[in-house]
Amino acid sequence: MTRLAINGAAGRMGQTVIETASDRDDVSVVFGIDVDTDADIDVPLSAPDETANALAEHDPDAVIDFTVPDSTVALAEACADAGVALVVGTTGVDEEQLSVLQEASEAVPLLKATNFSRGIQGLLRALGPALEALDGYDVEVMETHHNQKQDAPSGTAKTILDEISEHRDFETVAGREGIQPREEGEVGMLVRRAGDIRGEHEVMLADNDEVLTISHRAEDRAVFAAGAIDAAVWLAEQDAGWYGFDDVVDDS
Ligand code: NAD
Repeated sequence: MTRLAINGAAGRMGQTVIETASDRDDVSVVFGIDVDTDADIDVPLSAPDETANALAEHDPDAVIDFTVPDSTVALAEACADAGVALVVGTTGVDEEQLSVLQEASEAVPLLKATNFSRGIQGLLRALGPALEALDGYDVEVMETHHNQKQDAPSGTAKTILDEISEHRDFETVAGREGIQPREEGEVGMLVRRAGDIRGEHEVMLADNDEVLTISHRAEDRAVFAAGAIDAAVWLAEQDAGWYGFDDVVDDS
């Protein structure tokens, strides 16, 4: 049984992780952390400034984080001090914040993923061969998320652009407006925000006669929650270091 704590327990993802964990017999959620300590949640809730005490009191094997980057950074420092593995799902982390997480990973196992769905792992793995086979085709990326999402483009879209950069030299163009014909060596990045869409990503490769699209749609947040829990169970058994969700998928 892996003992979990959830940072951002009152949020959309935090609540989904707690719900998903309650249906599994290999994990238990021992406490949650959130600024909203009055939230109606079925686990003990701590305020962020009580994190160190809560980690010492409940002794979790791993913490799962779905919050905002400032909170992730503070949590990483607390986990490093307490010797607790950390799974980071929060997106929008900047370079400076990333270096704090990397420093924490010298003390504890730390896994960061912009997307915990296995389908997105499949998309990322399909992308390289497709780009190599379709050399010279125009490439465009589109993502769609719910109207409350803070960061844009999504962390997953940035991961997709990183994967494309392994195979092509390009400039990212954020949408297009006015007289702006497509230039060679561009990848357009289109962002849509609407309703409660869980997460859609599409990569289009086109020449004048044909179009290939590789797309993924998350139907339910439970897919991210299940992946994050799988990651935490796996990570709790690892040595200190920096890991990604691909490590979990490769090992299962
Ligand atoms: P949300 O706004 O519903 O939830 C965030 C929660 O964090 C809220 O309850 C908020 O009160 C809490 N919070 C804010 N500051 C805090 C602090 N200092 N300490 C503790 N808690 C704090 O957001 P969400 O939709 O659950 O998404 C959270 C993050 O997860 C976003 O960055 C989102 O992009 C990311 N996300 C990642 C994946 C993935 O697969 N990696 C999937 C979905 C969402």
